Amino acid sequence: MSLDIKKIRTDFPILNQEIYGKPLVYFDNGATTQKPQVVIDEEVKIYSHENSNIHRGVHFLSEQLTQRFEDARKVVQKFINAKYDHEIIFTSGTTQSINTVAYSFGERFVNEEDEIIISTLEHHSNIVPWQLLCERKKAILKVIPINDAGELLIDEFEKLISPKTRIVAINQVSNALGTVNDVKGIINISHKHNIPVLIDGAQSIQHGKTDVQDMDCDFFAFSGHKLYGPTGIGVLYGKEKWLNKMPPFLSGGEMIKKVSFEKTTFNELPFKFEAGTPNFTSAIAMSKAIEYIQAIGLNEIADYEKELLNYATEKLQSIKGLKIIGTSKNKVSLISFILENIHHYDAGMVIDKMGIAVRTGHHCAEPVMQRFNIEGTLRASFSFYNTKEEIDKLYNAILTVKQMFG
Ligand code: PMP
Repeated sequence: MSLDIKKIRTDFPILNQEIYGKPLVYFDNGATTQKPQVVIDEEVKIYSHENSNIHRGVHFLSEQLTQRFEDARKVVQKFINAKYDHEIIFTSGTTQSINTVAYSFGERFVNEEDEIIISTLEHHSNIVPWQLLCERKKAILKVIPINDAGELLIDEFEKLISPKTRIVAINQVSNALGTVNDVKGIINISHKHNIPVLIDGAQSIQHGKTDVQDMDCDFFAFSGHKLYGPTGIGVLYGKEKWLNKMPPFLSGGEMIKKVSFEKTTFNELPFKFEAGTPNFTSAIAMSKAIEYIQAIGLNEIADYEKELLNYATEKLQSIKGLKIIGTSKNKVSLISFILENIHHYDAGMVIDKMGIAVRTGHHCAEPVMQRFNIEGTLRASFSFYNTKEEIDKLYNAILTVKQMFG
């Protein structure tokens, strides 16, 4: 079934506007996605009629919203096919989700001279928390290298594994290059050595179906704002067997069972990891975003975005002096590129003046840039609400850039 893109676009009010007198072309979906009206309406509805702090009241509004918050958790559980709803922890986003594991798992399971494996492809938020853990524990960070296409070298990964490896943390999709990693393969290899795996799903969750049980990952992190939901909300999925063994990360209200000055005992899952007032409004609105994309169909989204990727790759490749960075066989709808003798910031500024939003820079993945010996790239990341006509506009804008600076 093909998607009715014209109709879909009317669901996103922000798309219907002009920037510098030109229709907005939004190609920065890797940084954040736009919100459908149902998500915006949900936030307005909650603040207009339902707002009340959850979990703490016996009054009507509090009980009602608590139920809606817990229903949202179940929506997420089904969406990623987690076994239990208490394996779904609401966080502020991928960054907090990864920090929770790096701190809490690290506290319990990582000791001096232990090893942690990440990859060259990681976003800073899946590098720095592990570096800090290594500093705290005097542990060692090992990095899976990539080839010139931007693909992980699995043979090298296997060589990095040792009896001291405590956890592997990699993304499913690289935000800088669009590479889709063979996470199932990596999890399979890791589990043969009894090593748990955290998957950073910030760039994969919005592009196709996610099944954490089938993948068999031990942890999975993602952000609501990259999934057509609100900012300030995200998810940490963790297998119950790990979460139960891990100490709390943040502490305060709601995560406790009993507090006295002598001793505090902790609440059960998932509340042990949800200290303080959670972002219940956005959790509920995020569940609406999930229902929205489920109604469109994750497979249909993946197919259409693939079509956009192929179309854009062919067009951009035909431009002389344009080099695509990241040419993996398996990619999401994201193209990173550089232009010969033209700085990406200069190009980005000209493209912006044509109403086209692309991202420029290192994309919070400096080690990827170092690997390719570049400072940064231009990045166009496409969503199911984008069109081939918009890609044509980007193509023409790049030709103009070349004329101006060439
Ligand atoms: N990991 C990846 C792969 C990302 O693309 C991003 C966001 N660019 C993050 C982690 C961090 O997500 P957030 O800023 O929403 O916490």
